[in-house]
Amino acid sequence: MSHTVEILSVGTELLLGSIANTDAQVISQGLSELGLNVYWHTVVGDNLQRAKEAVAIAKRRADIIITTGGLGPTCDDLTKNILAEAFGKKLVFDEPSAQRIQAYFQRIGRAMTDNNLQQAMLPEGCTILDNDWGTAPGCAFQAENVHVIMLPGPPSECRPMFRYRAMPYLQGLSEGVIASHTIKLFGIGESSMEAQLRDRMNAMSNPTLAPYAKEGECELRVTAKARTEEEAQGLLLPTVEQIKELFGSKVYGVDVTSLEEVVLMGLKEKGLTLGAAESCTGGLIAKRLTDIPGASSNFKGGIVSYTNEVKANVLQVPEQLLTQFGAVSAQVAQAMAEGARRVLDCDVALSSTGVAGPDRDDRDNEVGTMFVAIATREGTYVRTLHLGARPMRERLRIQTASHAFDLARRYLSGLPYED
Ligand code: ATP
Repeated sequence: MSHTVEILSVGTELLLGSIANTDAQVISQGLSELGLNVYWHTVVGDNLQRAKEAVAIAKRRADIIITTGGLGPTCDDLTKNILAEAFGKKLVFDEPSAQRIQAYFQRIGRAMTDNNLQQAMLPEGCTILDNDWGTAPGCAFQAENVHVIMLPGPPSECRPMFRYRAMPYLQGLSEGVIASHTIKLFGIGESSMEAQLRDRMNAMSNPTLAPYAKEGECELRVTAKARTEEEAQGLLLPTVEQIKELFGSKVYGVDVTSLEEVVLMGLKEKGLTLGAAESCTGGLIAKRLTDIPGASSNFKGGIVSYTNEVKANVLQVPEQLLTQFGAVSAQVAQAMAEGARRVLDCDVALSSTGVAGPDRDDRDNEVGTMFVAIATREGTYVRTLHLGARPMRERLRIQTASHAFDLARRYLSGLPYED
């Protein structure tokens, strides 16, 4: 049976726009991993009558209701009271939960008030979802063919509670196994990816496809449900292959963490070393590589050459190039990469130079004009980017560093630098 889920978030702050409903976002992402269909996100304030109405509607149309917020002592346990009442359940005192709450307060060295113990009042017969990240326990129960799961509101509690308590509970509802693969893409926008996949996505029910976008990258999670792991993989693999074929060299990996991880794996495989000369990315290429444990065997180092002086004196970029074309130019990006390759004595060198904003540079280059280059023993290649002025400075840097990594992973896999 395929389940339909409603996420019901309780909190006036959400309605006032003081906070965004990030709990619902994270829960929805996790539910798509489980192949569960989320049909509704509902937000209601801390108002008894309206919250009751929202629960009555959810109960009619969904068979899994996940609530967030309103479990704490400050709002009279609004959520628990309403849900328990809607399903004809009493709230009963749960001694182990009371002890956990007491222990939590001892651990953080704060005095506990009586209303904290209210949080140990839970719907009779429910499965208690222990909260190791705060005080209010969550809970789950089934009644009238509906599964109800209640989670606390603070994201620092809601996220782990969902992943480590609710997800295993939900997995237990479906027979068989759920398996997934994540395909990572670079160099394609989310809308273009979705447009190419729309018909396929609508036609698919098992496996399902869920697209995500972040920091100029896209990913597609393919999830299948089956009786055995083998059967699930049998459903997944043809789809993964079709997607790889559809997007070609834009796919940089399956079940990999990041572009930089793929670059490092490629360097290790080929026994090559890498170095970087960075201007507009200010060390981000080096940072992202050195975030990965064990990078030192293949990443030699980087030079943050922010001024022309350092570009000329350390990287040996000819002064004439700097005066003729300016620091933000393909010629200088090329000379920086070649200089880094020499100075750092590495097999492959990456460089970046550009205008990260907020203002244009002294040559009137627009914000978002970036050049990334790769120098190898076969030659040097420069990619010109016009990323636009809209992304913030930090985003422009991230995307520029990603383009540099994209050049490196294309070189290491023998792919053309551009499609
Ligand atoms: P507590 O035990 O802290 O009272 P609670 O379960 O009662 O937790 P709320 O009081 O509803 O949760 O919310 C606590 C805080 O958590 C809010 O002030 C808000 O900052 C954050 N929060 C609540 N709901 C959400 C949500 N859906 N998305 C993001 N943040 C949220």
